Amino acid sequence: MKSDDEDFEDDFPDGVYAIPPSPGEPKIKVRKLSDYCKARGIKPSDLSEEELKPFLSERSEDKCYHSSTMRDSIDCRCGKTKVYQVDTVEHYVLEKKILLHHVPHYYCRSCKEVTYDIDTDIIPLLKLAYSLQLKEIDWQDRNKLTIVFNADDNDELRHDIKCIINENIDSIIDGESFAIIYGSRVVVGQKMGNIIAVQKMIEKVF
Ligand SMILES: [Zn+2]
Repeated sequence: MKSDDEDFEDDFPDGVYAIPPSPGEPKIKVRKLSDYCKARGIKPSDLSEEELKPFLSERSEDKCYHSSTMRDSIDCRCGKTKVYQVDTVEHYVLEKKILLHHVPHYYCRSCKEVTYDIDTDIIPLLKLAYSLQLKEIDWQDRNKLTIVFNADDNDELRHDIKCIINENIDSIIDGESFAIIYGSRVVVGQKMGNIIAVQKMIEKVF
């Protein structure tokens, strides 16, 4: 039986943490950043942009998921052709709309029907997104630990919160809600599988 910490490391074999969904957003080497801050008794949020630079690495180009078994196109039942693409697909789970980003599928421009390869297996990811009340989720992030936001917070705040969550990752229990006190705020979220959803940010009243 492996510890959670080993699982965590397995998710980041190169020690680099990828943050969805903005393309071009840098990756942050969380472990190194965390060690650096701990050694100096400071928080990641105390660092200037210049100080953060050594911990950033450019996000790699989006991978192509076109496996050798996938064909370029398939026949659509409307008589036209469905073309293979990796793009966003809109889904409805009960009454909730969920956008599935970067998902490989066949798409018919004529009748707009979408077909997935059986291996694509979108149901578990949609179930997770629905349970966590997410409006969108990135297919590419399904197998790695991913932090997503429900609240419309600014990028700087999101960045800090991601760092805080990574620092507290060992105390976050799968399937359960968590609350982390961060400065004058309480960050409330839930982890299910690989996904950590930040659901609320509450200002503490002193
Ligand atoms: Zn069609």
